[in-house]
Amino acid sequence: MRTIGLIGGMSFESTTVYYQAINEAVRTRLGGLHSAEIVLHSVDFQSIVDLQKAGRWDAAAACLGKAAEGLERAGADCLLICTNTMHLVADEVAATVRIPLLNIIDETAKALSAAGARRPLLLATRYTMEHGFYARRMAAHGLAMTTPGEAGRTVIHNVIFDELCAGIVRDESRAAVLNLIDKAKDEGCDAVILGCTEICLLLDPDTLPLPGFDSTAIHAAAAVDFALAGGMKAAAE
Ligand code: GLU
Repeated sequence: MRTIGLIGGMSFESTTVYYQAINEAVRTRLGGLHSAEIVLHSVDFQSIVDLQKAGRWDAAAACLGKAAEGLERAGADCLLICTNTMHLVADEVAATVRIPLLNIIDETAKALSAAGARRPLLLATRYTMEHGFYARRMAAHGLAMTTPGEAGRTVIHNVIFDELCAGIVRDESRAAVLNLIDKAKDEGCDAVILGCTEICLLLDPDTLPLPGFDSTAIHAAAAVDFALAGGMKAAAE
């Protein structure tokens, strides 16, 4: 089994979901008491949020790059940045190591394409929705991604940072986000990307007005596929 390297803590609420999902999938696939080989570098999220707010993406890239180097030294065979937003600097982080970075945008796009989606709505932080890196990478996979309008983007951004990253889940916020999805459906969207790793704490991707694609679950599954691709077989081992 290959070792999965996680850069987490952004926020720790979603890193917990990654840890659980990866280990459950390995146990299901291999049986017995198998679990994943993982090395985790969990950052102090406030320091990253401060850099985001200041637009200091270069400093954030350097910080995550150092974490990536540490994970490689610790034996990681691949690297995951456990947040969509920080994929804004994924290429810079990937360049600091020799191990492959499993990109959350590529993995999510592959899942959308496999399901036949063409025009997904992105729900994410303002950085992810407005900086263009996500839409460009989706477009490279043939997907015409859209986002909510300005008011809707403010709603989802604030729900992510003021509530979900702080461990708060509110019914009122769930209703407000569901409204955004309803509106997008009326406007011709055919899928919704839970493009922030905490949104799965608020919404079940399988019970939405549009087919839901949970970036956290998709990214975690890609890590498990990578880890097991070398071919440990079920149960006996
Ligand atoms: N976890 C979130 C994401 O997937 C937001 C936290 C962050 O700003 O990194 O984008």
